[in-house]
Amino acid sequence: MEVIADFHIHSRYAMACSKSITIRGIDEGARQKGIRVIGTGDFTHPLWLAEIKQALEPAEQGLWMVKGLRTATRFTLSTEVSTVFDHGGKAKKIHNCVLAPSLEIVDQINSALAKYGSLSADGRPTLGMSASALVEILHSISPDIFVFPAHAWTPWFGVFGAFSGFDSMEEAYEDMAQHIHAFETGLSSDPDMNWRVSKLDRYTPLSNSDPHSIPKIGREANVFEFEEKDLSYNSILNAIKQKDKRHFKSTIEFYPGEGKYHYDGHRNCNISLSPQQAKKYNGMCPVCGRRLTIGVLHRVEQLADRPEGFVPKDAIPFVHAVPLVEVLSYITKKGDKTLYVQNLYERLMRKFGSEFNLTLHAQISEIEEVDKDLAEAISRIRTENVSVIPGYDGLFGTVDIMRRIKEEKKGTQRSLRE
Ligand SMILES: [Zn+2]
Ligand SMILES: [Zn+2]
Repeated sequence: MEVIADFHIHSRYAMACSKSITIRGIDEGARQKGIRVIGTGDFTHPLWLAEIKQALEPAEQGLWMVKGLRTATRFTLSTEVSTVFDHGGKAKKIHNCVLAPSLEIVDQINSALAKYGSLSADGRPTLGMSASALVEILHSISPDIFVFPAHAWTPWFGVFGAFSGFDSMEEAYEDMAQHIHAFETGLSSDPDMNWRVSKLDRYTPLSNSDPHSIPKIGREANVFEFEEKDLSYNSILNAIKQKDKRHFKSTIEFYPGEGKYHYDGHRNCNISLSPQQAKKYNGMCPVCGRRLTIGVLHRVEQLADRPEGFVPKDAIPFVHAVPLVEVLSYITKKGDKTLYVQNLYERLMRKFGSEFNLTLHAQISEIEEVDKDLAEAISRIRTENVSVIPGYDGLFGTVDIMRRIKEEKKGTQRSLRE
């Protein structure tokens, strides 16, 4: 059985997240997308944790389901915490995802972490402690707590980020790196970019959506294969640790150029640069003269010790997907939040069951029966026959599915005219 999992999500108590996120809403959003296992997000937040306890009941070992609903969705207790600390005179800020196997353990985690910062201030709390101290404390509570760095490459808060990160997992987590088994590649990087960094070989690349609203659930995800009877928190962890390589089948990826920090640049100066172009300007903005926001592609280049295209042995394969509402918005030229696009989406869900069923599995001929443009768009996305205008400095990129946007327009809108 295919089990698609998205471990990193947020509640309405996290900064900049939609106020309408509820447990039932997450359950429905996950089902619509085709996700079987989803994080609860934000278990460190007292109000959200109260909701988790009230709305969920135990299912398989370490997994939870919505009380009284009997849906197939399973929840895993998850949160994200920001560790902010000084390292060798430099300020370091790292976001860490945490998965826990039981509510008792969650309570222990929360009482331990409350000493380092206010857990009620934000669903994604800021803690005055090093990333290694975080892992040490959590590991002493239970070795079954699973910690991995979130969106590893983003300039701020990524473990390898250009501004407040490190050059290796070992530097960041010190002797606690032995308990780190995975890292989140983030929206702006794909596994193949990470394969170029040999010191990451022993860590499993994970893909999660880190959404700020329910429709963004599953824009990246992990695909596992389990027998129904074997599904549990422990079996998922073992699959991530690749104890048995047959279980972790693939990851579903955003086109990395669509991520907010793929290229270098300055949003306010309307400057977007490839790493090569940014190097020509010595990392300084040609408009305002200040330091450029160095994106993910550039950071990967800096740490890579292998050529582009290198594939390590046993690498977990990946596919690209574009969120269906975005595809519908693109082909109909109507906004993704319009009633028109929402109705179209609902109709497609009734026919195809779930979004991943349509975008990843359905026969193109089957989609053609519904809509020719949609079939062509899905076929182009599956075969990588799209063009991407890269995101930079916090601005999302654009996937130009049918290559409608003319080259000159791209140039003037999004990058420096040279
Ligand atoms: Zn984060
Ligand atoms: Zn500038």
